[in-house]
Amino acid sequence: MNHLSTEETTGLHPWSEGGHIDAAGLESWVQGRLAGQRQQIDRLLAVEGQKTLENTLRPYDDAVATLSAAGSLASLLDSVYPDKAVRDKARELTQTVAEAATALSLNQEVYRALVAMDMSGADPATAHYVSQTLLNYRLAGVDKDEATRALLRQLSDQATEISLTFAKNVQENINRVEVRDSSELDGLPEDYIRNHPADANGVITLTTDYPDMQPLMTFAGSADLRLRMFRAYNTRAYPANRPLLLDLLALRQQIASILGFASWADLATANQMMGSAANMKKFIAGLEQASRAGATREYEMVLAFARKQEPGLAALKSSDRGYWYEQYRREAFDFDSQSVRPYFPYEAVEKGILETAARLFHVSFQRNPGAGVWHPQVSAWDVYDRGRLCGRFYLDMHPREGKDKWFSAAPLIPGIEGRQLPEAALICNFPGGRTDDRTDGRPHDPGLMQYSDVVTFFHEFGHLMHAILGGHQQWAGVSGIATEGDFVEVPSQMLEEFFHDAKLLASFARHYQTGEPIPEALVERMNRASAFGRADGVRTQLFYTSYSLDVHNRPAEEVDPDAMLEQGYKRMLPYEWVDGNRMYASFTHLIGYTSNYYTYMFDKVIALDFFGQFDRAHLLEGPTAMRYRQAVLEPGGSKPGTQLIEDFLGREQKMDAFAQWVGEEFAGSSNDQ
Ligand SMILES: [Zn+2]
Repeated sequence: MNHLSTEETTGLHPWSEGGHIDAAGLESWVQGRLAGQRQQIDRLLAVEGQKTLENTLRPYDDAVATLSAAGSLASLLDSVYPDKAVRDKARELTQTVAEAATALSLNQEVYRALVAMDMSGADPATAHYVSQTLLNYRLAGVDKDEATRALLRQLSDQATEISLTFAKNVQENINRVEVRDSSELDGLPEDYIRNHPADANGVITLTTDYPDMQPLMTFAGSADLRLRMFRAYNTRAYPANRPLLLDLLALRQQIASILGFASWADLATANQMMGSAANMKKFIAGLEQASRAGATREYEMVLAFARKQEPGLAALKSSDRGYWYEQYRREAFDFDSQSVRPYFPYEAVEKGILETAARLFHVSFQRNPGAGVWHPQVSAWDVYDRGRLCGRFYLDMHPREGKDKWFSAAPLIPGIEGRQLPEAALICNFPGGRTDDRTDGRPHDPGLMQYSDVVTFFHEFGHLMHAILGGHQQWAGVSGIATEGDFVEVPSQMLEEFFHDAKLLASFARHYQTGEPIPEALVERMNRASAFGRADGVRTQLFYTSYSLDVHNRPAEEVDPDAMLEQGYKRMLPYEWVDGNRMYASFTHLIGYTSNYYTYMFDKVIALDFFGQFDRAHLLEGPTAMRYRQAVLEPGGSKPGTQLIEDFLGREQKMDAFAQWVGEEFAGSSNDQ
């Protein structure tokens, strides 16, 4: 056995072996890390004579590793810890660590030391790391005079504080929808209805948490209930986050102008594959044109179908999309998405995705019950590569009060080969996971997932594998998910495609009552049905993409988040706008991805090109998966994204696979309405 020994793990995590932590303990852990980071920087600055990789880049990278782990772990606890006092402390410390990182990014002495290094013996990965680091120093404003740098620090610290508050508001604000007439739940799955009993007054309360919201928007026959849920969901953290967003945009704009950029979007793309806001606009315009006719056709088909059921229906509202698409798919493709839910109980899906990833990437996973976790719902897993321990991940997969509401993969500890192993976590909100402490005789909730949930699981697991398998670099600064930001969604979206393989699904998707594997014919119908709506899906992504760009690509005082949301929606989507939609108030991608939501579509194109290299008949066998692991995942951020693409494809990336993917959707619906 090759478990991490206690000594090796002590100090790496802020929690005790049992996973427990209190606010004071967390404070002292983070302060200890920050003190360590200051020592590392002092060591770097004390070097006299020739600066070398060993005496300068090494302590710099150690400081980066320390800040990265301290910031990620504080941020994780802010997102997931059950005790609010610890979450609040964690958020305060996330701010403290971010301030230290900003200070380092504007430290002229450190910058000069890095510039002065003798690079003659540097290998390509090291040369890439140093050139990216120096570019990021210049983009941060390290060349500016002292007063300007002090101002930049202040603006950046303020932006961090607003960002953390914005995220907290989304995390802690659950809206509720009341149902007084239980017939409004008609159409929803039986287990959903069973899991939401009425209270003593006959009122059923549904929350905006994902496992409540998503099935309702897909299956509830009541248009009024769907509209109420849509409004509740899209007004989370409103009005609190509206002024915060405006302040944040103003701060970002001010930072960009000081640094000589026309807009934040130009600054935020300067070190990305995209390069500029103008390129992003071109990219959006290209996809807009390519998806327009298909999306119009889809909408007309679904509307015509809906009108047959409800004569006189004028238009489909935003809140109707999920429901009518589901109804249409039942008719046109003979596919009812409720029919696959029983094959996707949470536990079996988790096991199946782990097994799939293990086979695909030639690794094995062992649950480690001795590792400290922050909540009983969380499991810790050790990853072995050919018998050698190579990292750890944590699965925190179900909603809880006060926990982050979205789905994400969080790198926690950057791996440094021979020195520390990479760690990462998934933070999700899937159905299931409730402890069965009921005494009322109602059955245990098996956590039946919609197929879109399973796709999301594959997606997040793709990030996780990138973090772990890419986490064996000589430098922490290029370890794991450290590519350009706009390459990050490639490994995740590539893994999504594996969901569509019938043989693979049958290996784990078994009916939770009968144990029967999911039938191949059902998977084929699911694939044909889910392909319908791709153009519409592209335009939904373009709506988010353009909104993220538009609010970051003009003077902040010209931003009206409501008007721009409505105009942007109407430009991209055919559904009737629902008044009172304040989606921006809970759109946390505006915090993390800022202007760069385009990453998803940009990387979808690359991911589909990558997936095209696999042998569809034998997805898990053959040499392609290992080649992918070695060419794309293992290098982490040690090469530019364009290089990773060429290394795997043996050529430049092409649009063909994406165009085919969008075009495929009508292939199965020749008998359409
Ligand atoms: Zn992702």
